[in-house]
Amino acid sequence: MDTNEFDFENRIMNTGYTAEDSDVEASLRPKKLDDYIGQEKVKENLKIYIEAAKQRNDPLDHVLLYGPPGLGKTTLSNIIAAEMGVNIRITSGPAIEKQGDLAAILTNLNEGDVLFIDEIHRLSRSVEEILYPAMEDFALDIIIGKGPAARSIRIDLPRFTLVGATTRAGQMTTPLRDRFGVILKLELYTPEELATIIRRNAGILGMEISDDGAIEIASRSRGTPRIANRLLKRVRDFAQVRGNGEIDSNIANYALNRLEIDQLGLDNVDRKMLETIIKFYEGGPVGLETLAATVGEEAVTLEDMYEPYLMQIGFLSRTPRGRCVTRLAYEHLGLPYHAPRPTKADQISIFGEEQ
Ligand code: ADP
Repeated sequence: MDTNEFDFENRIMNTGYTAEDSDVEASLRPKKLDDYIGQEKVKENLKIYIEAAKQRNDPLDHVLLYGPPGLGKTTLSNIIAAEMGVNIRITSGPAIEKQGDLAAILTNLNEGDVLFIDEIHRLSRSVEEILYPAMEDFALDIIIGKGPAARSIRIDLPRFTLVGATTRAGQMTTPLRDRFGVILKLELYTPEELATIIRRNAGILGMEISDDGAIEIASRSRGTPRIANRLLKRVRDFAQVRGNGEIDSNIANYALNRLEIDQLGLDNVDRKMLETIIKFYEGGPVGLETLAATVGEEAVTLEDMYEPYLMQIGFLSRTPRGRCVTRLAYEHLGLPYHAPRPTKADQISIFGEEQ
């Protein structure tokens, strides 16, 4: 099969950050917790923790944010810093290569500052080791000298708040995860929440949009604000050239159909991936690694960027033997349904003979 038909890089529906997002993301990022739409449980808890820390005049406890890309982890960490009235220093797991890199960042923080580490699961073990005493005791242990003469000295650090973001909390080491006092999971957004974000952002960008136009875009944005923002920009171009500039449901529908994004927000890549599982693996189960090799993408990318939404809408199920396409997905693709062949493990559990 020609894997070029899966154009992962240039996908509009890619939940990752792309160059295309850089011009608007900064201006569209809400700056206060009250402007941050959705994630009600996360916001409620954060409000209390922030209030309590401020009353005690303490820095906020270390916070771990996890969830798929584009849901607002970076945005939220900026808001945390703003609400605490402190500065934020932004870096990422892969950018911190050596222990010394992290030591330099930590010693340059001011009391109360937020250190945001994106993709924190990608920190190397040796860098992580520096982080443990820093998080726990606000201290940096440095080894001076080599061999028998080596000795360790401890330097005090300012009390800071580490905000870690990850798409895969499961890949973090337990000692690191355990050092976060607050662990918050971000969920995919509902179409109504995305419509609110879209209306707000259309206002900031000076666009006219009707309520049904906002819902039309929202319901195809796969639960992800980053995609909602991107589709809004694309639809604006169609509204300007093909319409009267205002975004209503007709022009949104026309534009999104032209972009081959269907009613549920699936694009060609999603459809081809589901069709591949059906065509080559009889609907599954197929192991993630095998599927990744067949479509020419890394397993982690499939897991982070494609599966959360396909699972949320009930098109893909995860079984111990691999991924299966569900009846709903067959119906959506207009294909006759074949139930996945029961595996030996399934048969055992059906008949309750595990022992
Ligand atoms: P992540 O760090 O999880 O990949 P970001 O914080 O970069 O995601 O969010 C991507 C974009 O989505 C931001 O530029 C922001 O405009 C928008 N966004 C995310 N969450 C929200 C929200 N709750 N309310 C409004 N806009 C949001």
